[in-house]
Amino acid sequence: MMMKWMTPGMLLTMLASPALGASTWVHPAGLIDRATLADVRHKRETQPWAADVLASKDRAVQPWLELSLVRLEAMMPTKRTRVYWLLQCPACRQSLLFDAFNNRQATCPHCEKSHNLKEISTAAPPGAPYAGTLYDGWACFYLQACARIARDLALLHALGAEQAYAERAADILKLFAQRTKGLPVAGSGSFRMIWTYAYEGDCHVLLSLVAAYELVREVEGLFSAEEHRAIQQDLLRHWVDSVFRTETDQSQRHNNTYTNLTAVALVGCALEDADYVDWAFGQRRYAMSVRPGHRSLAWLGANNYRKDGAFWGLCTAYHLYALGPHCRAMLLGTKLSRQMPGLFPPELYDAMDPANPRARTARRAITWFTALSLPDMTMAPFGDMGGRVSLASYPLRNAWRRSTPNGQCRSWRDGNVADPRRRSCGLRGPQAGSHFASHPGGAAGAAGKYSRHLPRAESVQSDGPPSGAEFAVRRGP
Ligand SMILES: [Zn+2]
Repeated sequence: MMMKWMTPGMLLTMLASPALGASTWVHPAGLIDRATLADVRHKRETQPWAADVLASKDRAVQPWLELSLVRLEAMMPTKRTRVYWLLQCPACRQSLLFDAFNNRQATCPHCEKSHNLKEISTAAPPGAPYAGTLYDGWACFYLQACARIARDLALLHALGAEQAYAERAADILKLFAQRTKGLPVAGSGSFRMIWTYAYEGDCHVLLSLVAAYELVREVEGLFSAEEHRAIQQDLLRHWVDSVFRTETDQSQRHNNTYTNLTAVALVGCALEDADYVDWAFGQRRYAMSVRPGHRSLAWLGANNYRKDGAFWGLCTAYHLYALGPHCRAMLLGTKLSRQMPGLFPPELYDAMDPANPRARTARRAITWFTALSLPDMTMAPFGDMGGRVSLASYPLRNAWRRSTPNGQCRSWRDGNVADPRRRSCGLRGPQAGSHFASHPGGAAGAAGKYSRHLPRAESVQSDGPPSGAEFAVRRGP
């Protein structure tokens, strides 16, 4: 199939590359590997929407290319920030606009007041774990944005953009490498952080940075040997060992575990250390037969979903929190096994193979989502998730939040809450149609109209509720 669209130039590039399939590392490794780049190039040339996506990315990186290195260094935070939602207007409590290039003031789009970022944020009460200034929220946004830009610059360069793109990506990587090792590691157990907040914040910054490094690491003239060492050891290995590879057998699992494990595997690729990848995927010396309590991707595949395919965390929001990163981790395993089958044999790493039992788990989990989604494949999640499935879903979710104490969704999922509106939808079973029924208008009628998408009540089986400690820890900041 691949040869059908491969141009002669691409074929020559492939032939000039190290032998694919050898037991050696091939870079870029990870979610954006050589096959991904070839695929993106092909789509850019043949499909207008793909060219538009890349053009949009290119526009977004321009201000970062124009920034002087001195200014870039001055903008980079020097100590741990907190969480993005601290960037909230103290006057009206709406989100302030994030401007990556203004680290002094932010404007409220609602009441149009400007605030000095030194002001204390009213989004968290004094003494709360993430209490801080408006700057602490701005800087969290900044670190996320800066890392994403580094990744996109590196990607655009890998697709043919000029050397300056790679150089700016390298500047950002070097800055992180210089400043990370000296920062204290906050938190304990599986709740640790260096730059932002636990579970999601640090992880997303790291994922972008490791993707950027993989894409530019072999560009000539970008890094000295010492700079490679600093990025690999002082930034990536230190961050992963301190924050993400801290799970001990039987430790708590939460909805971000897939993402954390993916970060560990990707850093293993950057370090060319298969032990990190094995640890994350639960293979070889970390296989369930050897370490049955280790919360690896293999363990999650066997234990993270109920028999009906629902995430053990029960509500739709947490199902999606886990399912997206789960699919991404599966894709990563497939890509690793295709690019480096000698290091990552498909029989261990390719969970997309229908014969793999983990593929069946994923299929049930995806079916659980599609059964609840509307015909356009969007879903109104409830739990503590915003309108991230689609903007149109937000009012429905908001109606749910107003009508139900936060967290009660778990009881609903277990069938422990008697609510007349749930019965009114005329569906049987502990979960059937509950989110449709919770909305008094609009999509409430969808319970009947879209009933073919609802799960069969007969398929719902309870494995018993998780422990209270596990439930509590997966909440976001
Ligand atoms: Zn305001």
